[in-house]
Amino acid sequence: MTAPSRVEPAHDLTVAAGAEALFRSTFGGAADCVWAAPGRVNLIGEHVDYAGGLVLPFALPYVTVVASRIRNDDLMRCVSTHTTDRWQGAVSEVAPGRPSGWAAYLAGVLWALRESGIAPAGTGFDVAVHSTVPVGSGLSSSAALECAFALAVADSLGLPTNTDGRRTLIDACIRAENEIVGAATGGMDQSVAMLARPGHALLLDCRSGDSRLVPLDFASAGAQLLVMDTNAPHKLADGQYGARRATIERACANLGVDTLRDIRDVDGALAALTVPQSVPRVRHVLAEIRRVVEVTELLAQNRIADIGDVLTRSHRSLRDDYEVSSVELDCAVEAALDAGAWGARMTGGGFGGSAIALVPVDRVEDVVAHVLHRAASASLPTPQFLSATPSSAARRL
Ligand code: ADP
Ligand code: MG
Repeated sequence: MTAPSRVEPAHDLTVAAGAEALFRSTFGGAADCVWAAPGRVNLIGEHVDYAGGLVLPFALPYVTVVASRIRNDDLMRCVSTHTTDRWQGAVSEVAPGRPSGWAAYLAGVLWALRESGIAPAGTGFDVAVHSTVPVGSGLSSSAALECAFALAVADSLGLPTNTDGRRTLIDACIRAENEIVGAATGGMDQSVAMLARPGHALLLDCRSGDSRLVPLDFASAGAQLLVMDTNAPHKLADGQYGARRATIERACANLGVDTLRDIRDVDGALAALTVPQSVPRVRHVLAEIRRVVEVTELLAQNRIADIGDVLTRSHRSLRDDYEVSSVELDCAVEAALDAGAWGARMTGGGFGGSAIALVPVDRVEDVVAHVLHRAASASLPTPQFLSATPSSAARRL
């Protein structure tokens, strides 16, 4: 059998050294600012952020580091160790779909900060990126990239990077992803990258924007939360994510509510939907919001093992009612459960990407071996396993 492919987190300074070396060799001289922002997993609350729901993500110990230097000639130059594609262009020409590649996440942030008057016209940047967050695996490398850069911009301009300052930057990152990249994602990823704390998940109310930290300690319960990256890249921008979001928006219009969070009578709402195909979609969202409350209550009682069943119910709902799972995700989830996980589910937008499994520590090796075996038997890509310890928000290095 293939040896377990585990990705260990690197020290912040090691990741920073990668970004700074690329900066020096590309642009010459030193960066002004070096910021790291984490990837995330969502413990529960999937496909509910754009429905005004509750989500419960936490930051991973894997980061994207941005090394940057401010310019005053409207020019932006971007490089990353992840790709040989380099981009340079005028920030005043940034627009929806322009630039079209990975640099849109960076250019979009500066565009949004300039649009809202936070960064002055003419502001440009040289930016070098290095990351240990798997890219396109549903662990939010995109928000890590946006948030690290947004904080570097704020730092260069002498703007606050405390919690209030970060809330402003979150909005700019969301606009960059929605309007310039063209991915209709909600605000969960940017919020957790900016506001997370070690040893905590972030309970985020996507209707009010309020958040609070919830203690989360898997080790004290004798458990590990294993991230299983299926290595089948997800494709959020291919229309499926936007289609689900549009279905939910139409259902809200149908039911006369601003968000599905406003629904009190679940059965009544499902019966009132005039488009039959939207019934299972709405059923998922309403049940998933209730599951977030359930998990939060179990965590308050420190009943970690008991959240397993709720995670598994979330997966089945995403698979059957929301139809955003994939053969790779289902395979990893069922294999983990068969090998003794207390619960497992896909996490992130779906259609590939990653799943999580809540596993008693003495079963971790078995779960890893079984998930690998089942993927190999089904001729699926070899999954890799990451450590999911609730970690810090974005930070200056
Ligand atoms: P996820 O956020 O789950 O990793 P997305 O599709 O939302 O997946 O974002 C992945 C995209 O973000 C990549 O295709 C690339 O354009 C950009 N990206 C993320 N991290 C990096 C990086 N380190 N270097 C260059 N581009 C990156
Ligand atoms: Mg993303």
